[in-house]
Amino acid sequence: MDKLCFGIDIGGTTVKLGLFTSEGELLDKWEIQTRKENSGEYILKDVAESIKNKITEKSIDNSQIVGLGLGVPGPVTEDGTIIEGVNLGWGIFNVAKTMKNLTGFDTKVGNDANVAALGEMWQGGGKGYKNLVMVTLGTGVGGGVILNSEILTGSNGAAGELGHIRVNYEEKETCGCGKTGCLEQYASASGIVKEAKRLLENSKEPSVLRSEKEIKSLLWQS
Ligand SMILES: [Zn+2]
Repeated sequence: MDKLCFGIDIGGTTVKLGLFTSEGELLDKWEIQTRKENSGEYILKDVAESIKNKITEKSIDNSQIVGLGLGVPGPVTEDGTIIEGVNLGWGIFNVAKTMKNLTGFDTKVGNDANVAALGEMWQGGGKGYKNLVMVTLGTGVGGGVILNSEILTGSNGAAGELGHIRVNYEEKETCGCGKTGCLEQYASASGIVKEAKRLLENSKEPSVLRSEKEIKSLLWQS
């Protein structure tokens, strides 16, 4: 029987899940909503539930599962502790241990952009390369830097956080990270919506973008 594993990408809006062979072949993928109420306490429970449902649906034997790999939006230490999960409402806790307790499967956790960069090096656009930079655009802007086949973590695990490089010294609004003028404030999905609103407020030109509903529908189409 094939050895299998689950890859899980926890985002600010949705959680993307994939079922893979341990050789990296994608067998199935799906999404669930990220429920951020109550400081994000339902997120991992929902993921565990979804994985259990998939195991039942596909008649997978638990012994086939090698483990789970999780990407989370924030800096993560070696043992799977998230240091800051501002987009999810999370505090500091060990995500790997929590997932293991919820599912019974061994779990590895990393910063979402860092593990995405590893994935690209293994099976994607970075195949065959040992040095690469990966940029992720979503609710936030993430980055992963791979140097000599290894994730560049830096002294506090935030070396690849390209979204929080300051690009505007004039900015008055605060970024989710607490600083001002970060790239993420302009280049993320939420940043682009905010920028569009700013421009519309300062203009009398007619535009379909004047209703939030239409902005959203345009964003989801693209
Ligand atoms: Zn920031």
